[in-house]
Amino acid sequence: MFDKEIAQSLFNFLDRHWLNTPSDYGMSRPSYSDEEEEASHFFINEAKKLDIPTFRDMAGNYYFVLEGKNPSLPAIVSGSHVDSVPRGGRYDGPAGVVAAFSILAAFKKRGIVPPQTLCAMIIRGEEGAWFGQVSIGAKLSIGDISYEKLHQLRRADTNTSLKDYMEHIGLKPDMLKNQPVLFPLHETACFIELHIEQGPLLKDKNIPVGIVTGIRGNIRYREIKCVGEAGHTGTVPHHMRKDAVRASVHVLAKLEEAFTQLQQEGMDLVFTFPVANTGAAGAHTTIPFDFRFAIEVRSQSQDTLNRCEHIIADNIKISEDIYNVKFEVPQPIKSLPAVMSTEVQHQLRTHSKEIDLPSISMPSGAGHDTAVFANAGVPSGMIFVRHNGISHNPDEDMPFEDFSLGVDLLAQFMLKGFCPENGAISQQSFTKSLLNNGAHPI
Ligand SMILES: [Zn+2]
Repeated sequence: MFDKEIAQSLFNFLDRHWLNTPSDYGMSRPSYSDEEEEASHFFINEAKKLDIPTFRDMAGNYYFVLEGKNPSLPAIVSGSHVDSVPRGGRYDGPAGVVAAFSILAAFKKRGIVPPQTLCAMIIRGEEGAWFGQVSIGAKLSIGDISYEKLHQLRRADTNTSLKDYMEHIGLKPDMLKNQPVLFPLHETACFIELHIEQGPLLKDKNIPVGIVTGIRGNIRYREIKCVGEAGHTGTVPHHMRKDAVRASVHVLAKLEEAFTQLQQEGMDLVFTFPVANTGAAGAHTTIPFDFRFAIEVRSQSQDTLNRCEHIIADNIKISEDIYNVKFEVPQPIKSLPAVMSTEVQHQLRTHSKEIDLPSISMPSGAGHDTAVFANAGVPSGMIFVRHNGISHNPDEDMPFEDFSLGVDLLAQFMLKGFCPENGAISQQSFTKSLLNNGAHPI
């Protein structure tokens, strides 16, 4: 049960940020930009018409709140992001916000008072493409980004700091100096995000909805540099060579073997060597002395990620010894895996049966804001919606019928309510907590 008319019109509004120029094509809505702010205002305008109270926290996240029957019960919060990658698609992010908002709109219009308070949330700056940092709004909301970082993070295309962008849209980043918690952690029963799957599995299996078991964390080595020594390809004997390509290929082949072995042992793991090249150093008759490559490993298990990190270090050492080269290995960038609440998953499975909706359980290969809340201790879950399997690309597409099926499941979850596993009741209402944490009514 959700307001289809409002959902459609919100998607139409959001299309205003679709670029169709010879140099740029697709959705372009940078994190903490005017466009992201404008997109949020499409929702705020609808909320005003419906008399749904709206709040903005000090990180710029927006909260639309529908009070429940029992204010001492913690709230169900559901939301996603509205920023996109450069030349992105229509639905990665906005689908989850439109879903949660149009459920609240339907309840409000029909006078349905849910058992507990419901909140639709717009989370700022999820995409890492702009500032090199994912989930900025979510992390700021739980006090997990330092104030210094707001100066340091610079937008890739403009080199302007995040702090400047925040000030430009009327935020006061100085207020975040002591990393306050903005999100009502103790007044939230669960966080749940509807999102397009961003992969081909649901389409392939012809199942409309996925219930997420966990969000894979990752380790990324953006550039490992192998330093060898140049020489003539015809004259230098093999035992005297320092061949950067052969040394690197040896590492990659060993990793391929070891990681495939882990997969065969049943571990959740995907791995990619997304970049590999000799750059300008390559020449047909020169022994390669400079080879650069990247490694990315993702898993739902931190143990598996740790194991992979050791395997990478060991094989680099072995290759250095065999090939007499040096590898320059940067500190890997890490993001934690997140486990989805078994209780949320169970309820979603039960509700999907109630409404006759086929679903499967599956991990999320991509990172999401939900991981931030899950790792902050909030019972969390995700609903994946079938689409054409393409994402982070203008060709990303989702039939409205499939969106509707996913939203029906979310609506059922919100309507039935969710009690936290420990049965805790809140000391204060969700709204009161928001205000106490420095949010402003809009
Ligand atoms: Zn997303």
